[in-house]
Amino acid sequence: MSTPLIVGNWKMNGLGEAVTEIAAMAGAGRANLWVAPPFTLIDRAVIVAAGAVTIGGQDCHAAFSGAHTGCVSAAMLADLGAGFVIIGHSERRTDNGECDADVRAKALAARAAGLDVIVCVGETQEQRDAGAAEAIVGAQLAGSLPDAVDGLIVAYEPVWAIGTGRTPTPADVAAIHGFIRAQLLARFGLMGRGVRILYGGSVKPDNAALLLGQPHVGGALVGGASLTAASFLAIAAAAG
Ligand code: PEP
Repeated sequence: MSTPLIVGNWKMNGLGEAVTEIAAMAGAGRANLWVAPPFTLIDRAVIVAAGAVTIGGQDCHAAFSGAHTGCVSAAMLADLGAGFVIIGHSERRTDNGECDADVRAKALAARAAGLDVIVCVGETQEQRDAGAAEAIVGAQLAGSLPDAVDGLIVAYEPVWAIGTGRTPTPADVAAIHGFIRAQLLARFGLMGRGVRILYGGSVKPDNAALLLGQPHVGGALVGGASLTAASFLAIAAAAG
């Protein structure tokens, strides 16, 4: 089994001094730690990470360049030394009205710029209560994924678990990750076997081992608990 991939999403958090946390993460000498700080910290984060932590973006524009005030392209991220980008996070789908077609266009742009791409999917509480979690996640996968598996990672993040302290049961995590694997196999054939699927939503040091121990869970996408080296490294250690 490969080392779990632990990805931190700092969202809109962190001023200059916060890169000391990334330096501390890098100093721990662990493999497979990735962090997406805000755009403003990427260049400094790349320097302090010194290749020991992979630094990425939290979003990118679908276009290579152009008249898009305030936006950042995948090529710009790559130019700063980023190695990946998170696309289709539920906060962007909700706050910025991003639909599956937008997410797919961004994923294609990211791959064209040579970035690995983490495509996020996940249902709301209402959708889960209605028994529609698989239908929603299946539709998001069908509409959001790029055409090839190279550099592709999928993150399953139930919206109701993000930042709430609530998580699905281990059985529910196993069930939906198994469903996602089946969708990947149907779409990409045997190549779908190698696509890493992350779980995200209130992952903490004390629940990481259980959540990441489920079948088809290849790592975690971590929000709040990725902001300090202490808790992020504790999650990585618990994950194995
Ligand atoms: C996230 O925002 O991707 C996330 C999983 O957040 P948290 O870990 O804080 O729930």
